[in-house]
Amino acid sequence: MNLLVKFLRLRCPRCGGAPIFLDTNPYHLKNLTKMPDKCPKCQLSYKVEMGFYWGAMYVSYMLNALFFLMMAAVYVVTCWGHLIDWAHYFIMIASPIFIIISPYTLRLSRWLWLWFDYEFFIKRKKGL
Ligand SMILES: [Zn+2]
Repeated sequence: MNLLVKFLRLRCPRCGGAPIFLDTNPYHLKNLTKMPDKCPKCQLSYKVEMGFYWGAMYVSYMLNALFFLMMAAVYVVTCWGHLIDWAHYFIMIASPIFIIISPYTLRLSRWLWLWFDYEFFIKRKKGL
């Protein structure tokens, strides 16, 4: 499975065979961060160590900053000449979008953090 597809569908970073969250809908907020202990297909551990997913906060910040820059670029291109006048519209549209996508970006950031650990630490430790 393609890495981008694994990322967007939140599948196991190693095999892509199973979702990394117990509830695949990120908008069931009660189960937002619940993950199995390991991948049911390839046994990759999702419980790396205590507090492992704290590092995903930095990734989440990066993802949101990237998304903000993309939205700002669209705003600048489409509203050139009225940037100051229409700034409040940009804020009124961008703010709810950030709130609506935040459960999904939280999960994406956890996936990226897990993939980073797998790709740069677990794989190299095992010499894969
Ligand atoms: Zn797997």
